[in-house]
Amino acid sequence: MVGAGKRSCCYSSFCAKNPLGDLSAPSGWKTPGLVGNTCGHSPARPYLRPILHPAPLVRGSSHLAIGLITGVGIAAVVPDVRFSLPGIALAGFSSLAPDLDHPNSRLSKRMGFMQNYVRWAFAAAAVLLAVYAYLNLPPGPNQRVAFTGALSMFLIGMAMQNQSARKLALLFTGVVAVGAGLYWQFLWLSLLGAFVAAAPFTSHRSFTHTIWAAALWTYIGHLANKDLGWHGVAAYAGAGYLSHLLADTLTKSGVRYLLPLSDYAVKLPLISTGSAAGNLLEIGICAGYGLLIALLWWQRYQLG
Ligand SMILES: [Zn+2]
Repeated sequence: MVGAGKRSCCYSSFCAKNPLGDLSAPSGWKTPGLVGNTCGHSPARPYLRPILHPAPLVRGSSHLAIGLITGVGIAAVVPDVRFSLPGIALAGFSSLAPDLDHPNSRLSKRMGFMQNYVRWAFAAAAVLLAVYAYLNLPPGPNQRVAFTGALSMFLIGMAMQNQSARKLALLFTGVVAVGAGLYWQFLWLSLLGAFVAAAPFTSHRSFTHTIWAAALWTYIGHLANKDLGWHGVAAYAGAGYLSHLLADTLTKSGVRYLLPLSDYAVKLPLISTGSAAGNLLEIGICAGYGLLIALLWWQRYQLG
């Protein structure tokens, strides 16, 4: 079966060039040890079964909705946290943060056509900003900030193109934040930068989907809370982040909360994403959750 070797290899997860395979092992699958491949491609980490479909995911829009609702809920439940729109936005942002490790979100694939325009718009804006800074600003800190901004814009435009450029852009953004944090002595900003820089290089649903990452995110919020004097940052950020992990728990792959201590995936597979019924259920869950939080608020007003 030498002739068939190449083909079967590239449709299994035994090969690093496998176009469909997910190179990270889904929870519960056993690694059988290194399995030789027949095609001459370097072997990827081998697993017992080929993975022909990407692991089911909760859609980004649902994560955002759940995060925002969680933010509203936090204001209702936590005694000394006040209802605040920036806080709720922060919870929404935090609910998207764990998927910084996401190699290829469905959203970005769908946007393929639009992206071309957006990408060129970013590149053009970057060039204009750089030219403006060069001609109109005196050499000094302001000009450097403008150049950095132009470079960031250019990188963000590139990030829409492919995975490695996306990683590069996040790495750059993260490193700039680490530097800015060190310069202004904001530890939280440095930690946040380190998180953003490192997350894209971890495999999907690994480190960012653990209680340790959630704790780190909450701690960053706590430090920002102290530095900025903006009360409730830790609560909004931590709850938003956790809401993502809980939502992912409702899918087939579940969440391995205790990695690397334990490989056990907690799951309550209610959502099977990708189908029309699954999408409807996702919307239903968001709506039900929203209703629950609305009830909480109503109850609070009733009590005075
Ligand atoms: Zn996730």
